Amino acid sequence: MRTLHTIAELRSALAQPRREGRRVGLVPTMGAFHDGHRSLMRRARHECELVVVSLFVNPSQFNEPADLDAYPRDEPHDAAIAAEESVDLLFAPTAAEMYPHGFATTVHVSGVASGLEGALRGPGHFDGVATIVTKLLSLINPQVAYFGQKDAQQVAVVRQLTRDLNLPQEIVACPTVREADGLAMSSRNRLLDASDRRRALALQRALAAAQQAAASGERRAAEILAAAAAVLDQASLEPDYLALVDPPTFEAVSAVSGPALALVAARVGPVRLIDNQLLA
Ligand code: AMP
Repeated sequence: MRTLHTIAELRSALAQPRREGRRVGLVPTMGAFHDGHRSLMRRARHECELVVVSLFVNPSQFNEPADLDAYPRDEPHDAAIAAEESVDLLFAPTAAEMYPHGFATTVHVSGVASGLEGALRGPGHFDGVATIVTKLLSLINPQVAYFGQKDAQQVAVVRQLTRDLNLPQEIVACPTVREADGLAMSSRNRLLDASDRRRALALQRALAAAQQAAASGERRAAEILAAAAAVLDQASLEPDYLALVDPPTFEAVSAVSGPALALVAARVGPVRLIDNQLLA
């Protein structure tokens, strides 16, 4: 595996595989790799001839400077994990490389990006995501890009922007990888102390309660969400949001009549955690 820090190095490493028409897969990440990231790398390795992982803690998508500062960074460790997963190229640019002096373009997605994470973290969050993903897709031009369903709204935003901008890449959403006790893996989990780590389990349990309510025939969103809210309440967690939406548009649904996505976000100790579950 080669680690590349500049766009020039990346372009030259991609030139030959492109000429040979090799199938390129991209996994965009912010590092601090866990099994969720590994699952994306494995899927890409399985389906593509050249696997590129980008490692970039994108400052423009952080709304809180403290969150950006606290975000775990360990490039040598991440490089070792990517090598274990047989990644070909690790692209780890600096912020100045991606946003040089004079950078003036923002990709803004409305609609699907405006609620939930977009509303809570401010419009800058998904603007930052959409802009960096557009840059990476344009630079690397993979046939396929892999994202985690854990960040369901991010997947919907990326699908929207590729459709609207006629980008040719296929966007693949991979299932959420969880710890043995059900907590969705996240780079932020390592910032939880033992007591917050236990309370964090309520997010997944709340979604399971919503799922159970829907499975037992409840169609009203308010009732399904009330079942989830009760679980959070028991853990003394105040959700930032608890929502039931139509998966492609992220519009709130008032009654379940087809696939609906239940989403939760809550601050647990020092971090904000998110999770989601498709209700059948
Ligand atoms: P991040 O480094 O947090 O930006 O995540 C990079 C990619 O990994 C994103 O597409 C995430 O949705 C995905 N990801 C993060 N956590 C998980 C998880 N627990 N399971 C599956 N994918 C994940």
